[in-house]
Amino acid sequence: MATRREWREPLVRQLIAANDGADPEQIIERFADDLRRQAGQDRLPIRPDLIASCHGIRRKRGSYDFAGRIYAEPSGQLVMDINEQDSEERQHFTEAHELIHPAFPNFAKEERYRLDATMDRHAENREEEYLCDLGAAALLMPAQLVANEYSVRAGLSDAERLSVDAEVSIEAAANRLIALADEPCVLLCLAWSHKPADRPALRKGVNVPQRLRVRYGVTNHLNLYVPKFKSADEGSLFDQAAQDDLALSGVATLPGMESAGLFRVEAKRYGADRLERVLAICRPTA
Ligand SMILES: [Zn+2]
Repeated sequence: MATRREWREPLVRQLIAANDGADPEQIIERFADDLRRQAGQDRLPIRPDLIASCHGIRRKRGSYDFAGRIYAEPSGQLVMDINEQDSEERQHFTEAHELIHPAFPNFAKEERYRLDATMDRHAENREEEYLCDLGAAALLMPAQLVANEYSVRAGLSDAERLSVDAEVSIEAAANRLIALADEPCVLLCLAWSHKPADRPALRKGVNVPQRLRVRYGVTNHLNLYVPKFKSADEGSLFDQAAQDDLALSGVATLPGMESAGLFRVEAKRYGADRLERVLAICRPTA
């Protein structure tokens, strides 16, 4: 797992201090494992609703304008609200995400909302939310059950298999495969969008075409910075995958990371409309 050097949010610093300076990613992974084990869940799919009830957390489903939240009632009773309008797999991930929030010291004093239902991950600079996403992935796809059974070497077909077995989105599954990989690898998520520099022209009503751009990337065992909003060249493997129904494989450089050299890339389009994106698992050739 990639190790970060610095954590800034006070709650995350308190978590580190409460755990004798341990790496918060490892603290959260352990917290998720303990929650799951105490609930006797030892095979896929992990059922976050059963984990919640085993830990005495009341779970309510309703129509909300957020994906989920968890809070303590004055009595101390923990309550989790989950948006029933989201897809089943999205609700699973939200439930798992909310179950991680109580890992943080003084959690009960503040309400927390998970608002973004369209993407499976928060930006890394929102540290607590990022760590709850990581914990949700660890809860639903425990290292012990996943690491030897699914691999980045098998590429997107293993991500798809994991997504089915764990009842999570393909994007959550692919992210987890990268996090658990024992070799250098990158996951790129690309989507049709404008870049921030397009905004002034768009405001003036100029028709600026959307391009297939890097939405985010995650890496493991690689010292590589993935710049956002870089566009994939027309005719590139990524661009071709966006037009195709099947996974495409080949050797290519990565958008905005040409100096990092060549990668073995497998790319495929998933989702439709607003949620359409290309996922690519990339491993360095050298
Ligand atoms: Zn959250």
